[in-house]
Amino acid sequence: MGEEEPPVPRRAVLSFEGINLSLSCRHCEDAPCVDACITGALRKDQNGTVACDVAKCVGCWMCVMVCRFGLVSPTVIAAKCDMCPDREGRTGKARYACVEACPTDALFVGQYEDFQKLLAQPVKPRSPLGRLMGERRLS
Ligand code: SF4
Ligand code: SF4
Repeated sequence: MGEEEPPVPRRAVLSFEGINLSLSCRHCEDAPCVDACITGALRKDQNGTVACDVAKCVGCWMCVMVCRFGLVSPTVIAAKCDMCPDREGRTGKARYACVEACPTDALFVGQYEDFQKLLAQPVKPRSPLGRLMGERRLS
C-alpha cells in the first residue's frame, strides 16, 4: 500500500487593508506558465484547464517566476489549482475541494453570470467582500 501524499497549497490568500482574497489559478487563456515550462509538464487541456503532469516536473520554477498572480507553489512539484479532476461527477459545493472546505461559503461554484448576479446583490457592510465592492463602487 502506497503512502498518501501530503497536501500542498493550491490557493493563495492575500490580505490587504483588512480584506482577505482567496485566489487560485486563473487558467489564463494565453498561459505564460505553459510557455515557460521547459519539460511540457504544464499543459492546457481541451477544457481550458492548466494542470501540471507531476511526472514531468523537474522543479525549475520557471512557472513560479512567470505567473503574474503568484499562484504556483514551489513545493516538491509545481503545485497549482488543477480544477480537481478527481472530483469530476460531484456537484454543487462538493465539486471542488476548496469550495467544500470553505467554512464561510466565501467560495462558490458558478458561471460568470452567477458571479455578476452576486455582485448586483446589496453588499453586507461588515463582510470583506462587501467592503471591497463598496470601495470599488465608490471609485
Ligand atoms: S499558473 Fe498563473 S500564469 Fe499559469 S495559468 Fe494559472 S494564473 Fe495563469
Ligand atoms: S517547475 Fe515543473 S511545471 Fe514549472 S516550469 Fe519547471 S518543469 Fe515546468
